[in-house]
Amino acid sequence: RCLQLNSLSRVCSAPVEGDASQNIRLLQWNILSQTLGQHNDGFVRCPEEALTWEHRKYLIVQEILQNQPDVICLQEVDHFKFLQTVLGSQNYAGIFFPKPDSPCLYIEQNNGPDGCAIFYKRDKLELQGYDTRILEVWRVQSNQVAIAARLRMRSSGREFCVATTHLKARHGALLAKLRNEQGRDLIRFVKQFAGETPLLLCGDFNAEPVEPIYATILGCDLLRLGSAYADVKLDREEILQPSEDVAEFVSDSMKREPPYTTWKIREEGEECHTIDYVFYTPDRLKIKNCLDFPAGEQIGKNRTPSYQYPSDHFSLVCDFELLPSMENGKESDGEN
Ligand code: NDP
Ligand code: CA
Repeated sequence: RCLQLNSLSRVCSAPVEGDASQNIRLLQWNILSQTLGQHNDGFVRCPEEALTWEHRKYLIVQEILQNQPDVICLQEVDHFKFLQTVLGSQNYAGIFFPKPDSPCLYIEQNNGPDGCAIFYKRDKLELQGYDTRILEVWRVQSNQVAIAARLRMRSSGREFCVATTHLKARHGALLAKLRNEQGRDLIRFVKQFAGETPLLLCGDFNAEPVEPIYATILGCDLLRLGSAYADVKLDREEILQPSEDVAEFVSDSMKREPPYTTWKIREEGEECHTIDYVFYTPDRLKIKNCLDFPAGEQIGKNRTPSYQYPSDHFSLVCDFELLPSMENGKESDGEN
């Protein structure tokens, strides 16, 4: 079942059935760096005033809080202190990891480097540990980063891991190859951190489903992940069907991805792509709902960002249920 929300605010408030205490709502969003959005991106159809921080900051906070996520994964964060203050007052705690050589720093009016952030709801979840990584390509550090966190549900003691990243941008075969290498390093990092713990791996991968990295992640035998937005409309039996053919599993999933997660107009024209994902461990996490994206008419002819939408990416909001692990046919809890 997919939440069909017709209000422009896309508030995710539908109750989720099942064992409510085991539900996890994740919000994944590239919020658009203030410095890059205002001075570098060239959003030619967005009014200048709509790109000011004064205008955007409340829209960003509103989008996050109205969805009431338990875990928030953000990219292009260059106002972490602001978010930490506001979200802190709403019972969230956060981790920030900046890009080592953020392009923001080369722009005069910057507010520091941009990077990834993970926030979690303190009354529901307890941070058990986290790690950060500068992603490597052919053994050399790149300018892209990842964060991984281990969270424990206070009600049951069950644990899960969440990881987020923002891979290298721009088009071209070489860059697709580079993203794939970053993805391989990301997998190594996340596997080492999470072990057998159920995983939510999300971010702005800057890659359409046809790019090699999509197959690298979904085809990875170590992690055995599915894609939440691709799986949400399937019956659970269909998702868990053991696939003999990995290539077929990946291409089926690819076809079910949403039509876009980012939609903007630059000087060179319109860019409408699916490049943001929420990957998850299907045998330990049940995907229950995914928040739909606004339709073209709702977004408006100038696309995003706009007075209405503070980022050129839409937020992905997913409801999961954390399932017990079955060890020797017996339920085991509080495991790692
Ligand atoms: P990326 O190539 O990953 O992109 C940086 C940002 O630019 C991303 O947030 C990306 O957003 C955005 N972006 C993507 N496409 C465009 C576009 N067509 N026009 C404007 N912005 C776009 O950056 P890296 O971290 O690898 O850093 C490289 C960049 O940083 C260089 O391109 C350079 O401009 C800048 N830089 C400048 C230096 C200097 O001036 N001396 C030194 C170091 C870096 P999204 O992911 O949402 O697509
Ligand atoms: Ca961007």
